[in-house]
Amino acid sequence: MLRKAIVAALALSAACAPDSQAPVKVQALVLTSNGSYAPREVELTTISDIVRMEGVVAKMIGGARIRSDSQDPQVQSAQTEEAYAKAIIKAEGRGVTANYITHEDVLWPADFHTWNLVTAYYNFERAYDYFNKVTNVPSADLGEPATVYYFPEFTLVDSNPDALKDNALFFSPVQSFMVLPFDTLQKAPLALNAGVMSHEYAHRIFNKKVYSGSALPYQIAVWGGSPSSPGANLVKSLDEGFADYHAYGTTCASATGCNPRFFSTSFDDKLSNDRDLSKSDRCMDTLLRNDLNTLNVGAFDPYKLGSIIASALYQAGQEQGQHAQLQRALVAAYSDESSGNPGLAQLSRIARDDQTIFNLVSTSAVLINHITDTQLKTAVCNELIDHLQIPAGELVGPGLPCPPAAQGGTTCPRIN
Ligand SMILES: [Zn+2]
Repeated sequence: MLRKAIVAALALSAACAPDSQAPVKVQALVLTSNGSYAPREVELTTISDIVRMEGVVAKMIGGARIRSDSQDPQVQSAQTEEAYAKAIIKAEGRGVTANYITHEDVLWPADFHTWNLVTAYYNFERAYDYFNKVTNVPSADLGEPATVYYFPEFTLVDSNPDALKDNALFFSPVQSFMVLPFDTLQKAPLALNAGVMSHEYAHRIFNKKVYSGSALPYQIAVWGGSPSSPGANLVKSLDEGFADYHAYGTTCASATGCNPRFFSTSFDDKLSNDRDLSKSDRCMDTLLRNDLNTLNVGAFDPYKLGSIIASALYQAGQEQGQHAQLQRALVAAYSDESSGNPGLAQLSRIARDDQTIFNLVSTSAVLINHITDTQLKTAVCNELIDHLQIPAGELVGPGLPCPPAAQGGTTCPRIN
């Protein structure tokens, strides 16, 4: 079917430079209701150069080489975030060149990488739209077009001498995204997975707001310098959990609708189950709580706690039919300078010299204080008290953030 269309298009179209003016009608690979990705006509509304894949949302760069190695003399002598970024970017790469066949005003990608690039851009656009329109982050705050290193050679030498593959990530030291080459991944490439790309985009927003756009946030770099780093472990878990919940939020605007299992088209059953937001039986246990409080950020797994947080939020939003309101409140809680109602950025500043102040109770309070609807607030209180095993008395009571109606749920066995 696809081949036929391209052959037909080849026969009909003359070679000409595609019109770069947004909106551009283009074919992308989009998830269908039967779980496969298929060509579909979409509009890129923010693109300014469809060949170089540049626009308001993102700018694709090919052929880059990024190498982080603590033994690298250039890395060791770097004194600033900028110098560090320069030290690890070994080759800056160049703009990509996408190839199209024009058929009845619609651009059809003419090679695999163009399909992948166009779909990646489209997915970033969906994530941008979500943060702009659903969570109300103004365009000005969404910042400059994000640099996306497409198929770079990316090596984290301290943990693995080989270049990384099969991943998509936001890498804060260079404030950029990376779409890495494939290796053994058997399912849909990550660039095609709108949920996965939105998850990564959510890390950029978290970095901008909670970490003030820092390349090496002190919440990780400084707090993580202690043998036990509960604050760093928690902030990373919040970042992962919120990213999953926002990614879910992005899927709600897609043709196939809200999908709490968006990982499943790209990952195996184990990971898909572990990150499925609709699983309601995830609970803090004594082992995880002990790890949170005693491990260093380098050893702590932020996804386990992140998934508990994500599914707790999902349950509350689902129960109240108020996902968008909750997603907006979450982003409002990232950074808030108003007096008496600190955001996570402000709470972490207070906790700068004592990371134990940035804990499950204080961060839950920050979130809850940014929810305006009383019923939604109560639902979130109940889910967090239950799934994170927070003693109700720490959040419910006079002068505390949870309404008196909140008592916590009964899904999780109490460990206190
Ligand atoms: Zn993540």
